[in-house]
Amino acid sequence: NLDTRTAVAWITRAADDVRADEARLTSLDAAVGDGDHGANMTRGLAAATASFAEKPPATPGAVLVAAGRSLVAKTGGASGPLYGTGLRKAGKALGEAEQAEPAAVAEALQAMLDGIRELGEAAEGDKTMIDALAPAVAAFRDAVDDGADLGAAARAAADAAEEGLAATVPLQARKGRASYLGARSVGHEDPGAASTTLVLRALAEVTT
Ligand code: ADP
Ligand code: MG
Ligand code: MG
Repeated sequence: NLDTRTAVAWITRAADDVRADEARLTSLDAAVGDGDHGANMTRGLAAATASFAEKPPATPGAVLVAAGRSLVAKTGGASGPLYGTGLRKAGKALGEAEQAEPAAVAEALQAMLDGIRELGEAAEGDKTMIDALAPAVAAFRDAVDDGADLGAAARAAADAAEEGLAATVPLQARKGRASYLGARSVGHEDPGAASTTLVLRALAEVTT
């Protein structure tokens, strides 16, 4: 189950993993955007972990709401409001419970996806973070329906995100800054799909 400590560990691990891969995210965004995605995500997630130290959240839902607020406030660029809104919606979906069962986490991830879709109006195939997140949420839910525990469901989600990320390479971007490149956006991984994969892998790492 996802308890408060595991939720804090998830976001903290995501912050560490994104920082460790900051240069890769930056170079992906340099190819199709403005080269700031690594710095944006590192800054936003560092602010999230700092907020936990300052004001320890009492429930896993509160962890995700606090992380989302920090991302909205501290991450520049398109990705901040998108991830921030998504995490806030995920946290609200968890409510006040002290623990979330895998099925509740599946609903929270679905709320995150719905929130990002609503705000960014991107569909699958537009070459955005949605291309990693949508298949990941579906894989997570399928795994839970098959009786998987949190760790196994998170691994399935991270694997699906990774496949979704690879599938962004031949796509032409239709949303965000990369869309300004038109056909020249083809041939590169989407930076936001790459960071989404890291965030989901971090959940698998702390729950396995
Ligand atoms: P910016 O493009 O403003 O510099 P970032 O570089 O931090 O912001 O984030 C870029 C990423 O944001 C893209 O790779 C893409 O995955 C994601 N993104 C951009 N626009 C949208 C959108 N409308 N819907 C979903 N994701 C988007
Ligand atoms: Mg950018
Ligand atoms: Mg930018």
